[in-house]
Amino acid sequence: MSRGRLIGSLRYRDLRYTKNHPLRIPRVSLLLEFLEAMDLIKEYERVESRPATVEEILLFHTKEYVEALIEADRCECVPKGSRERFNIGSYENPVSPATFRGSALATGSSIQAVDLFLQGFLPFNPAGGMHHAFRDRANGFCFINDPVIAIEYLRRKGFRNILYIDLDAHHCDGVQEAFYETDDVYVLSVHQSPEYAFPFRSGFLKERGTGRGRGYNLNVPLPPGINDAEFLFVLEKVLGYLSEVYRPRVLVLQLGTDLLKEDYLSKFEVTNRGFLEAFKLVREVFGEGIYLGGGGYHPIALARAWTLIWCEISGRGIPERINPEGRRVLEGVEWEEIEEDTDRSYMYDLLLDPPSEGHVREEVKDLVSKVKAEIYS
Ligand SMILES: [Zn+2]
Repeated sequence: MSRGRLIGSLRYRDLRYTKNHPLRIPRVSLLLEFLEAMDLIKEYERVESRPATVEEILLFHTKEYVEALIEADRCECVPKGSRERFNIGSYENPVSPATFRGSALATGSSIQAVDLFLQGFLPFNPAGGMHHAFRDRANGFCFINDPVIAIEYLRRKGFRNILYIDLDAHHCDGVQEAFYETDDVYVLSVHQSPEYAFPFRSGFLKERGTGRGRGYNLNVPLPPGINDAEFLFVLEKVLGYLSEVYRPRVLVLQLGTDLLKEDYLSKFEVTNRGFLEAFKLVREVFGEGIYLGGGGYHPIALARAWTLIWCEISGRGIPERINPEGRRVLEGVEWEEIEEDTDRSYMYDLLLDPPSEGHVREEVKDLVSKVKAEIYS
């Protein structure tokens, strides 16, 4: 019997962002439907999401901010002063059922993931990984920072030496800030350099945290166009160096899919095969962990990639082709598809992308040398 547990809900269908928002797309519900259609999940492996309580959300966020989220969601309006004070109600962080209800559901699921992990299961919460939210401010489509709350929940249970790894295409500014001054949590983020990508202000190599030891924060800001060979080269080296100086007790892994080549909000060229290999690499070096979703704005690419992750977690073989039922689910996705010149029809046919060619650029090797120096400094 697999120890994998997928925490999700079809309720996310009704808790969507506003029209035209990149997160308007179906994500968790699509993944669940696709896994069903592909016969890749059993009833006992599914765990229904439950919302976080206000008390749990207060493990990180301020009371005033949480009250504003609840009020915005309830009145479907921007409460007075909220835009300026809490960054709620902008195009980036609009008021919708996702503002509080959707975010609270995703956060409760991350706490469920922690509990399941501590019971010996391998939990995956694809709705989680909303890593940009700050203590009292919405940011980067994120309202409630579920990774931080999951980690705070672990700390309340007495855990120290918690390693957080973030593979999303964007720097995890909210998580970094939350743990910048503690030695309990090591934050490693591999992402598009803020020189050209959101959040622009943070995610540079030289942000090392203020922990007593070597600095418990490590950023790997990558140039545009990162391919599989480069992504895996960077990860293998960095994880190897890190494992020599840091032995975590618990791993929390954020698995945003916006690093994939199909994603129109990032400039990476990683295939889902590369993404899967990256996931395997993290597990090889640091063992099992608590697995969270993250960014990802191409619904088909996202569903395929998280299906691969789920197959790996649950110890399933990966079917080569998408079956007719699975294809129907993917073809039925309604979204404002981005017009592209590239032919993406393979996505409805194959689950795993073919291996990709690519070499490791000198600038990527140079960056890894710099990261190594930081780790050992
Ligand atoms: Zn992202």
